[in-house]
Amino acid sequence: MRHEIAMKKLVEYVARKASALSQKYALEDLVSPSIAPVLAKSIDRIASTIARKNGGLWCNLCEKGPFTKRGFYLHLIRVHARDIESMVQEEMRRITEALKR
Ligand SMILES: [Zn+2]
Repeated sequence: MRHEIAMKKLVEYVARKASALSQKYALEDLVSPSIAPVLAKSIDRIASTIARKNGGLWCNLCEKGPFTKRGFYLHLIRVHARDIESMVQEEMRRITEALKR
């Protein structure tokens, strides 16, 4: 799978997780099986960092809200795709480095 497409799907995956929407893809289909289980934990952490529940969903990246699940997903994809992408890339770098040791 081409890198750009995989990263776009990973960003969607994180946004869906943060918005508590059901996933369209399994993480194992987006990244190599060797890192999927570890990355799943990182993504849980990223998702809980960017979302806050308080009578709806609030964005911890820009303090906007409250959003519905769908509204929050769209907000993350439209406004914060690059923020999420760099968080995911950082985690993948960390995991890959740890696996080399
Ligand atoms: Zn935001």
